[in-house]
Amino acid sequence: MLLYIHVPFCAQKCAYCAFYSEAGERADPAARREYLAALALDFGQAAAGGTFDTLYLGGGTPTVLSPAELAELTDITRRAVFAPGAEKTAEANPGSLTEEKLAVLRAGGFNRLSLGVQSLSDTLLARIGRRHRADDVWRALRLARRAGFGNIGADLLFGLPGQTDADWQTAVRAMTDAGLSHLSLYALTPEEKTPLAADLAAGRTRLLGDDAQADMYAWAREYLTGAGYRQDEISNFSLPGRACRHNAGYWRGEEYLGLGPGAVSCLTEGSQPVRTRRAALKEYAALLRAGLPPLAEGAEPLDRETRIKEYVMLRLRTREGLDRREFSRRFGASLEDVFGETPEQLIRARLLLSEGDGLRLDPDRYFVANSILVKFM
Ligand code: SF4
Repeated sequence: MLLYIHVPFCAQKCAYCAFYSEAGERADPAARREYLAALALDFGQAAAGGTFDTLYLGGGTPTVLSPAELAELTDITRRAVFAPGAEKTAEANPGSLTEEKLAVLRAGGFNRLSLGVQSLSDTLLARIGRRHRADDVWRALRLARRAGFGNIGADLLFGLPGQTDADWQTAVRAMTDAGLSHLSLYALTPEEKTPLAADLAAGRTRLLGDDAQADMYAWAREYLTGAGYRQDEISNFSLPGRACRHNAGYWRGEEYLGLGPGAVSCLTEGSQPVRTRRAALKEYAALLRAGLPPLAEGAEPLDRETRIKEYVMLRLRTREGLDRREFSRRFGASLEDVFGETPEQLIRARLLLSEGDGLRLDPDRYFVANSILVKFM
């Protein structure tokens, strides 16, 4: 099973971010103490004694925690059993990563780091409300290597307001030259109720157009493939043997337990898969103190139709694609039984590639994947 732990704090909110995290005064030491105490209870109830294949410490920004707080958190995770060689990833912000925090993470068993680099242009970083600067990235990478992290990935954003091809290509090249083992490339998306969405609506800023974004994505795919990276999924590239096992578990539709405020779990209860979301910090902590399940709302049973659609969406976004036999085994029906003519029509239109029992998106159509996958909705 996969284990995710959410750290719901950030030094400040980035202009485009809709993830749940508390910033400013709401992330003060008292809030962090309350979080760690509640997480210990949550972990004790839901994870202690469990066996996990991967651990992903995400956020928010795990590295806004102090070294002592991070040590407390890694101590909490010791109450679960991890499979031999388990992958343990910590997300880190280049601006808040220190030698001491890296040492704590290593001592806590973390063997993979995911850096939120986003861009190497200080102007663009400032424009999207990131606190760190390019120099912080280089400093963080030096410290991480020195601390013994050999498996380091980075997230990069494209389509930023005013971003040039040169900005983008410099960032991608620099990350490959630095030997990063994994890159996640995302188009900047104007999530609702963010400062970026407000600026766009008011005409104060503009994202790059679809064609410019498509060109950036196509260039990166070609460049990374040539540089020895394999495309594991629409947004994810890795060097041989360095694919993110935690992500791969999500894409295979495995069960996952999410702990911490705002974290989502998908687990089977009896024979019924259910999805739950933990409450935001204050309510999460209060519910746990009262001995109650720390959920934002009731568990959502996932009906067969929802599970099928989610599975198809996730599988078709991957390099491996969807295996028809595996689909039939899981759902007791063939793809055609469920979707009728749709798969064949997409194959005939060359939007999907069919090889033996395998079905996958044509990689040249990845940028417009959503417009194809919607046919399975
Ligand atoms: S650091 Fe990450 S989680 Fe925090 S506000 Fe920025 S994008 Fe969101």
